[in-house]
Amino acid sequence: MVQLEAQVDSDVPSGSPVSGEKKGKGNKRSHADDTSKSLVANGTHKKGERRSSVSKPARDLRDQPEPSPKSKKRKGRPDAVAAAIEPALAPIEADEVSTRSPSPVIDFDGLSRPSVGTRERLEETDVQKKERLEKMKGAVRTLLECVGEDPDREGLLATPERYAKAMLFFTKGYQENVGDIVNNAIFQEGHNEMVIVKDIEIFSMCEHHLVPFIGKMHIGYIPSNAVIGISKLPRIAEMFSRRLQIQERLTREVANAIMEVLKPQGVHVVMESNHLCMVMRGVQKTSSSTITSCVLGCFESKEKTRNEFLSLIGVNRR
Ligand SMILES: [Zn+2]
Repeated sequence: MVQLEAQVDSDVPSGSPVSGEKKGKGNKRSHADDTSKSLVANGTHKKGERRSSVSKPARDLRDQPEPSPKSKKRKGRPDAVAAAIEPALAPIEADEVSTRSPSPVIDFDGLSRPSVGTRERLEETDVQKKERLEKMKGAVRTLLECVGEDPDREGLLATPERYAKAMLFFTKGYQENVGDIVNNAIFQEGHNEMVIVKDIEIFSMCEHHLVPFIGKMHIGYIPSNAVIGISKLPRIAEMFSRRLQIQERLTREVANAIMEVLKPQGVHVVMESNHLCMVMRGVQKTSSSTITSCVLGCFESKEKTRNEFLSLIGVNRR
């Protein structure tokens, strides 16, 4: 049993805010491709799969059903789309064991859940970077005007640029990919005991309100001989959290990514956080926290394993 506490190391290749302008509508970089990938990764077409945490709260941890083999079958997809995504799925479907994650989050280039602008942002030139920043500055200036401010008063002069750069930093995860982060740090150790990294600090942005949600993530897995460099877990969490998110999906994406790169016996990710969109507006419940959980593999099938993890991270004491 290994138990570690970790902070998200902020020295992830933080990608000095990179920016740039979207290249018109040209985007020859295959929309078709993007579409097929996001079908898989966004979970929009996974009717039969076990949980659509985008729309539903996490269920009670103890009443997970046994995964039914037929739920893995994807139905009702147009043939063309099915054909397009089949290659990506094939290697994973091939070893249809309990270690398979329910949906591939990591596509072939590791970018994960690509949206139209992700690749453009990653591959932009310096000129495009400048254009992107200018466009964002204009938008922030508009916002300032709209709230009744004078964007030309001294205190606000540099605000559009500062905010634009801050926003690019808050979303730097779009420019990272799991492959680079893991960078072969997977070691055949013959270790098969639970590994936990807990209290990983998370700073993410709610995609509904563009305000932060802040919290802690706890990641546990049971290796199938191979272990992953322990610092990689917070970095994977960091990558997915530095995108526009909802907590449910963030939790699931981290679990699925670990499942895919490491193929352990199981993964359990729990996240607790405070959403400023709840605290500062709306219901204004300042002390409520939201807990989400994603269990895969042996954590899903074995209550004892789940409980061991929960008591080690301290969630059970509540
Ligand atoms: Zn929100």
